[in-house]
Amino acid sequence: MTSSPALGGWLAEAAAVLSPVCCAGCGAADVGVCPECRVALRPSLQRVRAGPVSVLVALEYGGVVAHVLGAVKERGRTDALGVLAAPLGVALASALASAGGAAVLVTVPSARAAVRRRGFRPVEELVRRSGVGRDSVRPRGRPVRGGLVLVREVADQAGLGVEERRVNLEGALRASARLAGRHVLIVDDVLTTGATLLEARRALEAVGARVEGAVCLAYTRRRDGRGEPQVTRRRPAGS
Ligand SMILES: [Zn+2]
Repeated sequence: MTSSPALGGWLAEAAAVLSPVCCAGCGAADVGVCPECRVALRPSLQRVRAGPVSVLVALEYGGVVAHVLGAVKERGRTDALGVLAAPLGVALASALASAGGAAVLVTVPSARAAVRRRGFRPVEELVRRSGVGRDSVRPRGRPVRGGLVLVREVADQAGLGVEERRVNLEGALRASARLAGRHVLIVDDVLTTGATLLEARRALEAVGARVEGAVCLAYTRRRDGRGEPQVTRRRPAGS
């Protein structure tokens, strides 16, 4: 069956409502996301680096965060988008305040195959539900639709090493010429090696955009302690 992305998202949401609900984080019965898992999703903003890009992150990837994000992206649990949009919104608001001027938000696009499979674009949905950029009087922070597009299909980054990820993404993104001269914050869901953000920055700068930094919902702390991203500063939630 073929269906539009919007219809696919609606069906996934309807299925989640109709089927017996369990916590997207821990599997506890009869609750979308249980109180204990909500605590684990409280933002703890940290500034990390992906090469030259300064990245504000809301959560550390793993445990409950990984389970809830996985439930949203791989099991159609769009009912859990809201609990992830809230910490992202805190990070977006903080980054926009720091960026000054009139920064716009540009989301990293999902691979076409992933959009077809899921029926929605997780990063765009998270930004939309975060409420950031809704203020029509002050358009600061408004997401720019189609700011970055994939110019070719890329392999799933999961399971690829640092160098493989870089090669996989090299030249894969193109930025809209409308962004020339604009101050931009790149938005993505999970920061792992930073390869995606570096490719996004390259594409944006190629059209004359000024990349102020990036905001990610969660980042993966490297277990081997080598390479990027590196935590450089810890800030209390909401700052
Ligand atoms: Zn739970």
